[in-house]
Amino acid sequence: MLLGEEHQLIRNLARNFGEKHIVPINKRIEKDTIPKELYQELGKIGFTGVIIPPEYGGSGFDTLSYVIILEELARVSPSVSVAMDVQNGLVEYPIFTYGTEYLKKKYLPKLCSAEYIGAYALTEPQAGSDAANVQLKAEKVGDEYVLNGSKFFITNANHASVFIVFARTSKGMKRHEGITAFIVERNYDGFKVGEDYKKLGVRGSSTAELVFENVHVPEENILGDIGKGFYIAMNTLNMGRIGIGAQALGIAQASLEKSIDYMKQREAFGKKIAEFQGLQFQLSEIATKIEAARLLVYDAAQRADKGLPLIKEASMAKYFASNAAMEASRFAVQVHGGYGFIEDFDVERYYRDAKITEIYEGTSEIQKLVIAREILK
Ligand SMILES: Cc1cc2nc3c(=O)[nH]c(=O)nc-3n(C[C@H](O)[C@H](O)[C@H](O)COP(=O)(O)OP(=O)(O)OC[C@H]3O[C@@H](n4cnc5c(N)ncnc54)[C@H](O)[C@@H]3O)c2cc1C
Repeated sequence: MLLGEEHQLIRNLARNFGEKHIVPINKRIEKDTIPKELYQELGKIGFTGVIIPPEYGGSGFDTLSYVIILEELARVSPSVSVAMDVQNGLVEYPIFTYGTEYLKKKYLPKLCSAEYIGAYALTEPQAGSDAANVQLKAEKVGDEYVLNGSKFFITNANHASVFIVFARTSKGMKRHEGITAFIVERNYDGFKVGEDYKKLGVRGSSTAELVFENVHVPEENILGDIGKGFYIAMNTLNMGRIGIGAQALGIAQASLEKSIDYMKQREAFGKKIAEFQGLQFQLSEIATKIEAARLLVYDAAQRADKGLPLIKEASMAKYFASNAAMEASRFAVQVHGGYGFIEDFDVERYYRDAKITEIYEGTSEIQKLVIAREILK
């Protein structure tokens, strides 16, 4: 897709940022985690507050810019990309869209500047794909709510100062009713974050359990209407899914680039392996799928900018792009032969990192359910 000058500049900015600030420390990020200094650099360049207007401390860019930034970050580090997907799409977006003026002023400037990192806590042991099954309890006591329960698999957990938490405030007539969205601060009494899980991929991103033991949250920290949190959770995930589509796109693009470079230099049977038609055909298919994925992701982003419906488009973008990432990274490993299997070549990481894009923010099966529901309604 041809980008206008402004979006091309954004791409260059993000690419240069990745090469300068991420590539040199990538191994450290993956072995340990995203360092504080990198968050600060992301804050300085405006990537921790991409779509939030300047009056709340953000960069005021459009959603297309947001996905281009996530794509470019994922090209070098899917761990950093998902941290920024959550910060921008799953934390700042719902605060900006559903928060009171008080909440926007209190939290957005600190999130946009990277003083605060945010996390989005929906998943529970019995509420993953079946997200309406939220059990974390929030009981009203005076002008506060008291939260008890746990959340699983929360990205950014060990870096975050604020958490968007979905809790059950009542038993609704329907399962998805009676869920409310709260902003919980890390320093509230009774709130604990577990140790990071050891993961197959995106190892540099923090993912952990949250435990709530009589955590008192002021009523003013409610986002949107009481009992309507499920709608906030789902609408927010649309934004996040476009971001994960962009993350998958970045992984696919990196896989393609490494494959092309290697095919042009590796020789077998007295020829460059790029000359083998068996590999060329696979390369062509993958390159075409990546372009198609890019169109889907950018189209969904542009729909967000125009305020058009995008539930189906966001799911299609995530579903298709994550599939492209899996295929492209598998090809990249295969084309590198034995070298693809060892850590010195980045492609083994792409292969590991691609998998999560088919799982979080709604598995591929759930994306297909959403797409079918939208088509058939
Ligand atoms: C690294 C990582 C980071 C994450 N970050 C976050 C986060 O920041 N915040 C957050 O809230 N959650 C987060 N998650 C949770 C993630 O979104 C869930 O793991 C995911 O939605 C799947 O839920 P589950 O693990 O409970 O799987 P399940 O829902 O138990 O699904 C198991 C399998 O059954 C399939 N399945 C389920 N229902 C259907 C159906 N109706 N039809 C067909 N197939 C179906 C699924 O597709 C899947 O293959 C994260 C997870 C991981 C691994």
